[in-house]
Amino acid sequence: MELGEKKLFIAIGAGGVLLLVMAAAVAWYLVAPRLSGFHEDLPLIVGAAALLGFAAIAVGLGIIALSTVIGRRVLFSQRITSTVIRILFPPVFMLSRIIGIDRDTVKRSFIAVNNALVAAGRDTLKSGKLLLLLPHCLQSTDCRNKITGGLIENCQGCGRCVISSLLTLAREHDLALTVATGGTLARRVIGEVKPAAIIAVACETDLTSGIRDSYPLPVYGILNERPHGPCRDTTVNLDRVKEAIAFFASAGK
Ligand code: SF4
Repeated sequence: MELGEKKLFIAIGAGGVLLLVMAAAVAWYLVAPRLSGFHEDLPLIVGAAALLGFAAIAVGLGIIALSTVIGRRVLFSQRITSTVIRILFPPVFMLSRIIGIDRDTVKRSFIAVNNALVAAGRDTLKSGKLLLLLPHCLQSTDCRNKITGGLIENCQGCGRCVISSLLTLAREHDLALTVATGGTLARRVIGEVKPAAIIAVACETDLTSGIRDSYPLPVYGILNERPHGPCRDTTVNLDRVKEAIAFFASAGK
């Protein structure tokens, strides 16, 4: 992933922190007279606590940015990283709407930041099962075989879609592989397989929500390709999947 792609989420995140501070300042200004009715020092205490909270978020974002640039985790656990990102999501998307950047562009940048953080945490990755999580739209619409859930072995390997190549890869590298029809099935499979990490293929929206839902589990996201439009006969760059498998194979302890 290029640095430029990651920069966007970090930059809008910084703007998001500013937006939160401004909203909190207005809220503080409005409620301060009421708070002082309880105790004269209460507005100061609430204001100082809020400032400390925002400073922590800003420091968190700075450390995320530094980790993605130098390719090493800096002072940060995956759990704290995910908390900072979760807090920043609403203001980031609000701000991107205000300045006219489309949501998919921001989501692609978020996925790039997430992947860089997964890569930066390579020394902390736990060993264990790797799950290859695929969207149903990769399957050819002409195929009548039911392959979702635990039925991937129903793929006849005809080669009309990329599923057969992905199944071969999964067998070669002893990966768990699931084709999921949605988030509910994906969550159920993750609960059953209990993977150490996930390589997920999906569109911007599903990858973003899947990565967020799975925190602090490391999820390496790969965007699908949509030559026939969204959700239909999609495909994926197999080299990117192979690179991700090689990364997890060489990482961990
Ligand atoms: S490769 Fe498998 S899933 Fe794809 S069309 Fe052939 S049988 Fe169906």
